[in-house]
Amino acid sequence: MSDVFTAAAEQEQEPAVTAFKVRVLLVDDQLIIVEAVRRMLSDHPDIEFHHVTDPQQAFDTALLLQPTVILQDLVLPEVDGFDLIRRYRAHDILRHIPVIVLSSHEDPKLKAHSFAMGANDYMVKLPDRLEVLARVRYHSAAHINRLQRDEAFRFLRESQQRLADANIALQKLAALDSLTGIANRRRFDEVLQIEWQRAQRERQPLALLLCDVDFFKCYNDSFGHPAGDLCLKKTAAVLTAHLKRAADLAARYGGEEFAIILPDTDAAGALTVAQACIAHLQGLGMANPGAQPLGVVTMSVGVATMVPTPEHGPAELIAQADRALYAAKRSGRNCALDAASLTPA
Ligand code: GH3
Ligand code: MG
Ligand code: MG
Repeated sequence: MSDVFTAAAEQEQEPAVTAFKVRVLLVDDQLIIVEAVRRMLSDHPDIEFHHVTDPQQAFDTALLLQPTVILQDLVLPEVDGFDLIRRYRAHDILRHIPVIVLSSHEDPKLKAHSFAMGANDYMVKLPDRLEVLARVRYHSAAHINRLQRDEAFRFLRESQQRLADANIALQKLAALDSLTGIANRRRFDEVLQIEWQRAQRERQPLALLLCDVDFFKCYNDSFGHPAGDLCLKKTAAVLTAHLKRAADLAARYGGEEFAIILPDTDAAGALTVAQACIAHLQGLGMANPGAQPLGVVTMSVGVATMVPTPEHGPAELIAQADRALYAAKRSGRNCALDAASLTPA
């Protein structure tokens, strides 16, 4: 269980907030404008300046650089600046990058159209240095905020997913017996309760098998506790091999006792499964010198089947299976007995 905690803890780091730099991409075919803007920004080492004069390359350059703001000329050779803005806006990565139109005209209609096309701002060439700086910083900061917020959300989603995965892994572990890998007693109790209620609703029989390894103390005495553990693992595997339906469950009930829950199964069906498990285990031929007369590992099974009613609870089913198991032990072991076949006490 600690492995799951460790793995989850190792992955649970602080989000590394990326330090985004202000990165300007100027798209303008006039070198004189490029030089002027470059000079305006040159005293500011935290601002990266890039430009492209060939409008055919504007889109690919923007994609490559992913600037925090684009200064976009409108009148370019063979290309309409508005078309470029439209293309930026249609692209998943470029969609949110702020675009400031650099226009030659102070024209309200052109301004309105720019905003309608998806521009975020509008400046008339050649704007004042302070204004360029202020607008570049303002739009870049907004964009960087958005990138950092997206990054934080992504990190949050990922860590939530990791936590959910770790929880599922923990739940699975908490339901398993660490020695045999099959369901543990806790899970058995849960499933029996659920299946009892389901069977009561559906008026279907619910069968329970209680299995106990015969002369297991002798086995431990003969071969030692670690060999005994291995024997229990093999016994668990035998039981699991005889489960046919998804709802069937084999669990370690405690020590060298196991239980099998068989929903929608009548007494005859349950007895058949019990006998198959018994034959299978004996067939493995695991030597147990103290288990006379056969000298191999065997088990006894108590079978109980009930159509649940509100007057009883699952404890009644367990009590009946336990009585049948006790009777199987007394009648010579290595056999299965159905509680219904016992003479009432
Ligand atoms: P019976 O045929 O009447 O069931 O006899 P038994 O010897 O199987 O039953 P008993 O209750 O006398 O002994 C059960 C033994 O199972 C004693 C205990 O040490 C052993 N045991 C219980 N849990 C484990 C385990 O996890 N590993 C090992 N190796 N032994 C276990
Ligand atoms: Mg026992
Ligand atoms: Mg036993």
